Amino acid sequence: MEVFEKWESEIRGYSRTYPTVFASASNARQVDEVGRSYLDFFAGAGVLNFGHNNPRMKRAMIEFLEADGVAHSLDMATTTKRDFISKFVSTVLEPRGMTMRLQFMGPTGSNAVEAALKLARKVTGRRDVVAFTHGFHGMTLGSLALTGNDVFRRAAGVPLENVHRLPFETAPGGGLASLEAYREQLADVSSGLLPPAAFVVETIQAEGGVNVAGAEWLHAVQRLARDVGALFVIDEIQVGCGRTGSYFSFDGMGLDPDIVCLAKGIGGYGTPLAMNLNRPELDAHWAPGEHTGTFRGQGLSFVAGREALTYFDDDELMNEVHAKAERMVSVLDGLAAEVPDRGSAGKDRRFAVRGRGMIQGLDVVDGAFAKAVAAECFARGLLIGPCGSGGRVLKLIPPLTIPDDDLDEGLEILAGAVRDTL
Ligand code: PMP
Repeated sequence: MEVFEKWESEIRGYSRTYPTVFASASNARQVDEVGRSYLDFFAGAGVLNFGHNNPRMKRAMIEFLEADGVAHSLDMATTTKRDFISKFVSTVLEPRGMTMRLQFMGPTGSNAVEAALKLARKVTGRRDVVAFTHGFHGMTLGSLALTGNDVFRRAAGVPLENVHRLPFETAPGGGLASLEAYREQLADVSSGLLPPAAFVVETIQAEGGVNVAGAEWLHAVQRLARDVGALFVIDEIQVGCGRTGSYFSFDGMGLDPDIVCLAKGIGGYGTPLAMNLNRPELDAHWAPGEHTGTFRGQGLSFVAGREALTYFDDDELMNEVHAKAERMVSVLDGLAAEVPDRGSAGKDRRFAVRGRGMIQGLDVVDGAFAKAVAAECFARGLLIGPCGSGGRVLKLIPPLTIPDDDLDEGLEILAGAVRDTL
C-alpha cells in the first residue's frame, strides 16, 4: 500500500476501508496480491451488475479490439454505438412502449444528472429543482446541490443553491401530506416559493440508506410535478439495469418519467457510460452540441453495454435475481429478529431490513457499529459498504450473476460478523 499512501491524494476512500491491493477479479470475487479471495457484495456501488470480467462481454470487447473498432469517437456515429442504441431500443424501450431519446454525456452519473438539470431548467425557464432528503445524485455542483449528505455538501466550498428539499417518503415528515403541503404553498402567490423546474427522485435511495419509495408516493410526486408544470426525473443510476429484478426499478408501477438518468451498470463491464432517456418533445429543446463532453463515444462501453442488454432477452437473470433476493432477505430478517432491542430511553433501536431485489440494506442503527461490522467482514473475506445517515446501514449489492454458493457464503460471513461484533 506504500505507493498509494505516499503518492495518492488524501481523498482516497475505499482503499482505506479495504486496505489491500487487488490484483484480479472474476464475477463476485476479487483476489488480492497475496492470493486472498474476497467476496464482493459492493460490486462497484452498482456498476458490476453482471460481475467482474464478465466472460461474454470480455469476448465481445476482445473481438472489437482485434477488429480495430473505434474506441473513441466523441459523439460521431459508429457501428458499435448504433449497435448499442438499436439493442437498447429493441430490448428496453419498445417492449415498454417508450419513445424516449437517448442522450449520451460524459460517462458518470453526475454528468447524467447535470444534463437532466440543464434540460429541465431550459425547458421550463425555471431555476429551482425539488430534491429529497437523503438523496444522492452526484458530486459536481449541480448534482451535489441535490445530494443530501452533509460531508459531501460542505466540501463544495460555495453555496449549493436552487434546490428545494422535501422529505423522502420514508423520512421524518415524509409521505403524501408533505407533498400536499408543498402543493398548497406553491399555489399561494405569497408563499415566497418559486415553482420548480423538476422533481428529481430515486425510487430506492441507495447511498441514502436503502430507503424504498412506494408506487403510490412516486405517483403522487409525478402528479404534483405535472400539476405544477415541472419535469419528473427518475435517477436510476444505482438501482437500474436489473438490480431490483426488472430492468428499471419503476417497472410495473405505471410511472411515466420525463427524464430517466442511467449510468454505472449501463456500461456492463465497469466500462464507463452514462445516458439519459429524454421525452422527445423535451429533448427537442437541446441545440446540437449544447451539452458536450469528450468521453461520449466509448467504444468498449458500447460493446460491453450491448452485451449486457442480452441478459434481458429472456427472464432467466431476472428470475435468478428474485430467487437470490429471497435468500438475502431471509438471512437478513433472521439476523434482525435475533438481535435484541439496542435502544435506550424508549427509543426503538431494532435492526431493520429494507430493499427490493438484489439491493438490500441492514439498518443496524449505529454508524460505528456498521463500520466495525464492515471491517470484520473485510477481515473474513467479504467486501461490504455502509451507507445512510452516519453510515448506519450495511448495503448488500452483489453482482446479479453471483453464484448461489458465493451468495450464501457472503451472507454467512456477514451474519457471523454481526453476531461477533455485538
Ligand atoms: N445518482 C445515484 C443514485 C448514485 O448512486 C450515484 C453514485 N453513487 C450518482 C448519481 C453519481 O454517479 P457518479 O459517481 O458516477 O458520478
